[in-house]
Amino acid sequence: MNPSNDHNHRRKKRAQFKHQAGPFIIFFTVLMPTNCVILEQIYFELKMDSKTQLINGFLVCFVYSMAMWSYYQSITIKNYSIDKAILLQDNRRIDPLYKNTNSCQECNKWKPIRTHHCSLCGKCILKMDHHCPWIHNCVGLRNHRAFYLFTMYMTIGAIQYSYASWVYFRFLFQSTQGFFSHQSTFFYIYWGLTSLVLYPTCAMLCFLFFYHTSLIINNQTTLEQMRGGSNGNCCIQNNKPQKSINLFDRGLLSNIAWFFNYSYFWFLPFENVYKQDGGQYPIAPLCSLQDIQINNPQIQIGQVPDQQFDFDKIDQKLEEYMTIAKQKYKSKRLVFIGKEIQLD
Ligand SMILES: [Zn+2]
Ligand SMILES: [Zn+2]
Repeated sequence: MNPSNDHNHRRKKRAQFKHQAGPFIIFFTVLMPTNCVILEQIYFELKMDSKTQLINGFLVCFVYSMAMWSYYQSITIKNYSIDKAILLQDNRRIDPLYKNTNSCQECNKWKPIRTHHCSLCGKCILKMDHHCPWIHNCVGLRNHRAFYLFTMYMTIGAIQYSYASWVYFRFLFQSTQGFFSHQSTFFYIYWGLTSLVLYPTCAMLCFLFFYHTSLIINNQTTLEQMRGGSNGNCCIQNNKPQKSINLFDRGLLSNIAWFFNYSYFWFLPFENVYKQDGGQYPIAPLCSLQDIQINNPQIQIGQVPDQQFDFDKIDQKLEEYMTIAKQKYKSKRLVFIGKEIQLD
């Protein structure tokens, strides 16, 4: 067997295993938070007054149901490809090497920008973030919100359970009747095993939650972040594109608002359906949103209700813009929509 065949064979086997392990992992992921809720609501005696207990019980159940709903949504929402569309003019600024005629060699189909082929799903995934074995699905354009909310609710739930567990542990530890005299042996084994699984999971969830928060703030995917954020280039220095420039980054509030599809119900894990559904993305005007904001008071950070910036209007204000850009981007060469300006 030659090396490439061997590699392909191992890749196929790994894909098969992950595919088969899927339902088991899903079962396990549902079981763990369920155990925590059962332990906390039925077994722990947290010595709260009845009103606090009621509120606490309600909040625990709310977070639990939201986590399970988000989990279900991230498994079932798919991010498969869409019909071919013509790229918006400002989207053509992204990556001069990118051609809208790119096609996937595996699917033999048009491959829109930010799309990657997933060998485990066997399909092209829009705005692919990563393939997640915990949801037995890819995280991408339409289910990233549900996946993010899943990590958020699980983190909140895990921290809350850890605290309740610690309070009950302290109560048993300080009890004059002895640590093991309050519950059955079954409880102590059940509690021990759940805690054993919970703490590493809790640490992993916290990491995932904070990592994906940073991705949302920067409007990046895991894949793009791993490649140093080189989603495209706008400013060019010494004839070389600046690798770290991320054209999808339109500023903190715009990025967050777009990620949650401009919804007031951002905390509900609905499927995100965007206007330009995966074919193109709103991108930052010129170099940074701050520059434009100074020139055009109508365009404010966070405003941007799912519409593109009007580049013609910005062009009219070019002189004004250049004065500010000159101060900010000294000695850089600026390229946008085919125009090239030397800043000195
Ligand atoms: Zn493909
Ligand atoms: Zn996948």
